[in-house]
Amino acid sequence: MTRLLEDRFGRVATDLRVSLTDRCNLRCSYCMPEEGLDWLANERLLSDDEVVRLVRVGVEQLGIREVRFTGGEPLVRRGIVDIVRRSREIDPALELSLTSNALGLARMAPALAEAGLNRVNISLDTIRAETFHTITRRDRLHDVVAGLEAAQAAGLGPVKINAVLLRGVNDDQAAELLGWAIEHGYHLRFIEQMPLDAQHGWTREQMVTADEILASLEAVFDLSPAVEPRGSAPAELFLVNGGPATVGVIASVTRPFCGDCDRVRLTADGQVRNCLFAREESDLRAALRAGASDEELADRWVIAMRGKRAGHGIDDPTFLQPDRPMSAIGG
Ligand code: SAM
Repeated sequence: MTRLLEDRFGRVATDLRVSLTDRCNLRCSYCMPEEGLDWLANERLLSDDEVVRLVRVGVEQLGIREVRFTGGEPLVRRGIVDIVRRSREIDPALELSLTSNALGLARMAPALAEAGLNRVNISLDTIRAETFHTITRRDRLHDVVAGLEAAQAAGLGPVKINAVLLRGVNDDQAAELLGWAIEHGYHLRFIEQMPLDAQHGWTREQMVTADEILASLEAVFDLSPAVEPRGSAPAELFLVNGGPATVGVIASVTRPFCGDCDRVRLTADGQVRNCLFAREESDLRAALRAGASDEELADRWVIAMRGKRAGHGIDDPTFLQPDRPMSAIGG
């Protein structure tokens, strides 16, 4: 390895988020409109071989130590198990994980574990079927619960759950969800809603803040800061009722942690994004299809990181939401 993905502020990216598709089988209101979006055409998507090659360049030449597959919904990508297996072959020490809504995971968890996946992060905002339908516009809560159980049974743990609270929809259910997660041995983290929805409907006034989330949990549980150093982990961790159970809060908006960011993203169509909120991308797919060598791809990637800004700038008056929504960037 000759280079690192270092930016002008000395941050080094070692955690690669790879979007495998922009498609999803849920329609979470804070992410996508009910009718879905104009999906990327197939020829624009990286092939399985192209995904694995870029993962290899990242790991072998640029110091990537953790790869998380995401989307859209990564489980709808047909080659997912094979992509995991081939990524595992690159480096037995690579941390390999998946962010998923868990639809289909009940069936796929054993194969994913066998292929070398280490962990999963599952998105679940409520354990009430009615609220689940209101948020996701689908009646699939039972499939998510089955997927969580299968992931746990397959050893894809610790199984983490990511939850977004929406005002007037599920913001009264934080403690209920935490109690349920603890009972089942899942690690729950609440994520502040970010301005990344395709409809551009996010407002600062409507989002549920970390302070509000903590206040509603503290009405039921005793929370104390977990002592372990946070490092580059986005979640602030709290012990619940003295531990060992914990709960995390990812306050991307009200308590940004950009100074500790160690992430870089690759979209399903092969664009490097140095930040979730970046307004520029670097086209690795075009270079790759024009016959670039691994070294040339690595060069482009290094250059793409130099433009990473100090912070996401949501609070700046000049802030502009990225053109691509979360589902197309890879959350
Ligand atoms: N489909 C997969 C899933 O559901 O986990 C992976 C992609 S999804 C975009 C990744 C995560 O982003 C989910 O936990 C989802 O709740 C979160 N997310 C989507 N839009 C968001 C937004 N506007 N603000 C905060 N989190 C968001």
